[in-house]
Amino acid sequence: PLAEHDRIYFQSYSHIGIHEAMIKDRVRTDAYRSAIMHHQKFIEGKVVMDVGCGTGILSVFCARAGAKRVYAVEASEMATQAREIVKANNLDDKVVVVHGRVEDVEVEDKVDVIISEWMGYMLLYESMLPSVLFARDKWLKPGGLILPSHATLFMAPITNSERYEGSVDFWSDVYGINMSALVPLAKKFTSEEPSIEIIGGENVLSWPFVVKHIDCYTFKAEELKSITTKYKVSSMMLAPIHGFGLWFEVEFNGPSNPTDKSPSDLNPLDVIRKKRRRGSEDPVVLSTAPEDEPTHWHQTILYFPDPIEVKQDQIIEGSVKVSQSEENPRFLNIQLDCTLLIWIPRLLMVRSYNLQE
Ligand code: SAH
Repeated sequence: PLAEHDRIYFQSYSHIGIHEAMIKDRVRTDAYRSAIMHHQKFIEGKVVMDVGCGTGILSVFCARAGAKRVYAVEASEMATQAREIVKANNLDDKVVVVHGRVEDVEVEDKVDVIISEWMGYMLLYESMLPSVLFARDKWLKPGGLILPSHATLFMAPITNSERYEGSVDFWSDVYGINMSALVPLAKKFTSEEPSIEIIGGENVLSWPFVVKHIDCYTFKAEELKSITTKYKVSSMMLAPIHGFGLWFEVEFNGPSNPTDKSPSDLNPLDVIRKKRRRGSEDPVVLSTAPEDEPTHWHQTILYFPDPIEVKQDQIIEGSVKVSQSEENPRFLNIQLDCTLLIWIPRLLMVRSYNLQE
């Protein structure tokens, strides 16, 4: 028997609309297809498990790339259509659709590859990752491949006057009527819940910081219960901060290299520099960053009730805590605190130093 929140969750995936949105997201679907082709040598002749196959699209890609067998596991009713799709493409000798939760199903053999598209808004919303980690611990052979292999959640202060004014200042003059009485409600509404919307690189005020880096080969689901990260960034310009934006990237690297730095040693800027240095031979990356092509994940924005003016080079610091909601572990609570350090203009500092001399 499923928990109520799981029943609702899987029901949402039995509707076509959600699959249409995911499959039409070319950035997403092409990244998975490229990643499968990038690892084709490894996948050929091997056994794959597709955790949450939905319509079966990734399973079909893997079978076409030469997998010997694909276990396409799907808990929602979409499993019925997935089975038909596999058959219509003459892959029913290779792709076995297994209708059930990956936590409950049995398959004949251990697998060489686990593939899954588990990412939610701001990476962790929906919390499907624990199911993938469960499959890894139960079904993946040592030395096996996990796609994607790494995930990083980023965050940065953002400015977005157009959006903020459109929702808040809007009420001060509506068809010539002063409706400012609604401004406090509008501020509450805008800032109360994360907003899923597309911003651009020009809205981002500082280098992003890493909220969480996940190595899917070693990560433990318990770590998702509560994530706290301290940050300290400096604003690249004079602007009002309207809030913080969150986005993520996933990488499709090969089986983890034991000499890899552990996530705690990882310098956030290394992650970004690595991205900038990427060549065509490098593993595939799926990015949902504001400066990259938009995806169906958009970005997640946490608006402040009121904007705060920052100067160029002003330091913004604080901490962010992302934790699973107690009532429904698929929901997240986000606690953000933010302090602006007093701005000391660089030129002025130099000048006063000279005066003292
Ligand atoms: N792989 C498909 C669908 C991705 S959406 C694609 O790329 O288009 C994630 C899918 O995983 C949903 O269909 C959802 O029902 C399924 N899912 C989530 N958790 C699961 C679990 N624990 N066991 C089986 N399926 C699950």
